[in-house]
Amino acid sequence: MKIALIAHDRKKEDLIHFVTAYQPILSEHSLYATGTTGRRIIEETALPVTCFQSGPLGGDQQIGAMIAQNQMDMIIFFRDPLTAQPHEPDITALLRLCDVYHIPLATNMGTAEVLLNGLQEGLVDWRLIRRNRE
Ligand code: PGA
Repeated sequence: MKIALIAHDRKKEDLIHFVTAYQPILSEHSLYATGTTGRRIIEETALPVTCFQSGPLGGDQQIGAMIAQNQMDMIIFFRDPLTAQPHEPDITALLRLCDVYHIPLATNMGTAEVLLNGLQEGLVDWRLIRRNRE
């Protein structure tokens, strides 16, 4: 599975803790991230991550483009609900594409746990999701 990891600045610490806790599961998948988030994960865990541009410089849009090309399977995006983001239109566009293409999306740690545990346990019918994407 191709999984994208994104965290706004005030959520990056949370994402690092989450990724560290779920490293055994995440290590079985291909990981992608926006620039600053990805570099933090690489520095603080042993996980390989393909880094895109930083979010405000187009990283969210690059991940959106992968979704549109059927190249991304799950998004874990720890958003900061209390801070305005300069690239809000890019964020909205990314969330919209997740809905267009039936991509599992977690915007907080509670949902992210459910998604990764569901993935690990084989509880998600990925064939159904993939069929709906096509
Ligand atoms: P960043 O981007 O990982 O480069 O900080 C995340 C975002 O703000 O979308």
